[in-house]
Amino acid sequence: MSELHRDSICIHGGHEIDSSGSRAVPIYQTTSYVFSDSDHAASLFALEKEGNIYSRITNPTTAVLEKRMAQLNGGVGALAVASGQSAIMLALLNILQAGDEVVSADNLYGGTRTLFQYTFKRMGITVKFADSGNMDSFKKLITDKTRAVYAESIGNPKLDVVELDTLADIAHAAGVPLILDNTVSPYILDPFAWGVDIAVYSATKFLGGHGNSIGGILVDSGKFNWDNGKFPLISEDDPGYHNKNFLKEFGNMAYILKARVNLLRDMGPAMSPFNAFLILQGMETLHIRMQRHCENALKVAAFLSNHENVEWVNYPGLPSGSQFIKAKRYLKEGFGAIIGFGIKGGYEAAVKFIDSVSLFSHVANIGDVRSLVIHPASTTHQQLTKEEKQTSGVTDDFIRLSIGIENIDDIINDLDQALGVI
Ligand code: PLP
Repeated sequence: MSELHRDSICIHGGHEIDSSGSRAVPIYQTTSYVFSDSDHAASLFALEKEGNIYSRITNPTTAVLEKRMAQLNGGVGALAVASGQSAIMLALLNILQAGDEVVSADNLYGGTRTLFQYTFKRMGITVKFADSGNMDSFKKLITDKTRAVYAESIGNPKLDVVELDTLADIAHAAGVPLILDNTVSPYILDPFAWGVDIAVYSATKFLGGHGNSIGGILVDSGKFNWDNGKFPLISEDDPGYHNKNFLKEFGNMAYILKARVNLLRDMGPAMSPFNAFLILQGMETLHIRMQRHCENALKVAAFLSNHENVEWVNYPGLPSGSQFIKAKRYLKEGFGAIIGFGIKGGYEAAVKFIDSVSLFSHVANIGDVRSLVIHPASTTHQQLTKEEKQTSGVTDDFIRLSIGIENIDDIINDLDQALGVI
């Protein structure tokens, strides 16, 4: 087959019909795989032959998802794991040791912020937070201990768009990779085209798209040079794998292979084959869902901008907004589904509004076909200090919407009636 277009990759990528002839991707619900003989078993364990050993490490259903995501992103390989959080954790622990540092944008999803600020700290890893809107502030925090620069494509919930190519240049000048969480903009933002080295996704959101499965994926562009003396975990012999040298033996597949056969093997956050199947089902409509999400969100943002009970609206696609010029540059196929707005009347009005919607579901999630709503100050960002809430863009009046793919009139009618109640 000639090289497929990206929308066709969403449907066919990574799937070869097996001996059963099954048209849909089969669910290989198995823990382990029968070796054909002792030599075969030994060669699989020595990574001399490709094949399956145990479903914590590889699984044929999950492998289709991994190949599809690698193809869609134009990467050399991908690793599917149990959640977006475990994808972020493995993406970084694959190259970090105690004493190392990361420079991260400060506008992160709350769970990533706590992972970086508290859990990584306990492991001796320091994450320094730079102002997501000021590229120079990243540069200033880089030291000779820095091993990665980290950002989210569109900050969740601040909804600011990161200047990816500038950030990639800053990271590369320091000899470290740029790792990007592209959870909120799969398909509509092409991370490797802008110099990103590793992309991570919560597959729980738009990739799965139907709010039924937790999952995560990391994708390797294969472009970063790990052989600059800063990444001994990749470039030196690995005592955890019979002193194998991943870089010498596997070249630009070293990073993603190591994440699988070291970290996934040892820490174990594997994706279940059933979740891989459901996320694959989601991916088959990703291209048309993203289009509809973006179309609907743009109309909702315009509606909210003109509503008397709305103080402010934050959506990268609003021409009057501060992010529009950047958004147009990086998000060529739409501005995403997430909208933030400030409701007149602050905390009390926000809570009343949330309790008054009916089509919208009040959930701690984004990226579902259904429209979703949350008040971050009282929920997802509750644990953060006042200052941390401020830098994340979480104010008391702030409501976050994840616009679904329902009929736009139904979405707007629901918002209108709930805004009328406050
Ligand atoms: N990254 C972003 C941008 C998110 O919004 C989330 C969850 O909301 C995550 C990562 C974590 O993903 P998961 O819930 O699949 O662990």
